[in-house]
Amino acid sequence: MTPFLIVCGLIVALFLLRLMMFRGVIGKEAVDPPRGIIDMHCHTAGFGAGGSGAWISDALRNSWKFGLYLKIFGSNEKTVSEEGDESLMAIIAKSIQESEFVDGAVILAMDAPYTAEGELDRDSGEVCVPNRFVGERVKKFPELHFAASVHPNRKDALEELEWSKENGAVLVKWLPNIQNIDPSEERYEAYYRKLVELDLPLLTHVGDEDSFSQTNNVLGDPKLLRFALECGVKVTAAHVASSGEREGQTNVERLLEMMPEFPNLLADISTLTQSNRRRYLPVVLNDKRLEGRLMYGTDYPLTNTPLVTPLQYPLNLKVGQMWKIFRTKNSWDRDVKLKAALGTKRDVFEMSREFLGIKN
Ligand SMILES: [Zn+2]
Repeated sequence: MTPFLIVCGLIVALFLLRLMMFRGVIGKEAVDPPRGIIDMHCHTAGFGAGGSGAWISDALRNSWKFGLYLKIFGSNEKTVSEEGDESLMAIIAKSIQESEFVDGAVILAMDAPYTAEGELDRDSGEVCVPNRFVGERVKKFPELHFAASVHPNRKDALEELEWSKENGAVLVKWLPNIQNIDPSEERYEAYYRKLVELDLPLLTHVGDEDSFSQTNNVLGDPKLLRFALECGVKVTAAHVASSGEREGQTNVERLLEMMPEFPNLLADISTLTQSNRRRYLPVVLNDKRLEGRLMYGTDYPLTNTPLVTPLQYPLNLKVGQMWKIFRTKNSWDRDVKLKAALGTKRDVFEMSREFLGIKN
């Protein structure tokens, strides 16, 4: 047999295999996504250019990841050094202006780790994007909204929450696995009461964390959120805890178990189409316990990596559909179209705006 015939044979075999195994939409049905969506989970970054106060560890600065991160933000070290860290927010704002479906994004600050005594622990930190930088610069861009990040061990934590609220914060973001936060600590009661008083929801990473090199995944156990929920905090579990397990149970299941007990517990669908998380999509899109509790987010710039390509869904999407989504240039539109085609319900796209009370 000539190589040509072998290749033809393989293509025909793949085609037949796909015909036999095609399963279609993962959720109940594909929807036309609405317009005016808010992305409630969007990152910015920086290394202090233009006096932003942001910093990254030397290890990260010297690693291959540094250039790659800036590249998926659509920039590079030279440009950011010249135009400032703020230039990354300008890129995000422009891309949102160009988006057909998404009108706004919540930009997440990232606090440094603190010791149990409340001292800044810069040595174990990898990334810090300060509240002052995000809170002040988003005001230049009507498409961007401020999410503060306040470590509960900080001596000025309650004042910082107040400052954040006064400066337009729509939520507070944590990443316990790398910030060294155990959400179950009872000494956080005053912090939690302050969040309730200020009506600031908490968006927290739940499940294992795989983007950073030093991570304590014990702190990503959904069960640790129980105390905050009992205090009445509105908690959104990022990525529906779709990574890792504890005590022989997946973190997703540990989170879902808590949903009926706590109506103030919600989740976001950011980065769920990524190849290492996609196996949870059938549960996330169809589990009754998540009905009305799931909202749209991207985890931008992770939407710009090959790990979220629509081409990994040949058994769920038609070839033309995959190709059309693949060819969509705008990062937000590509993400919205993919999630909608896989069966994400309309109310998931609409809920972020409603939940955060964003009018414009
Ligand atoms: Zn994130």
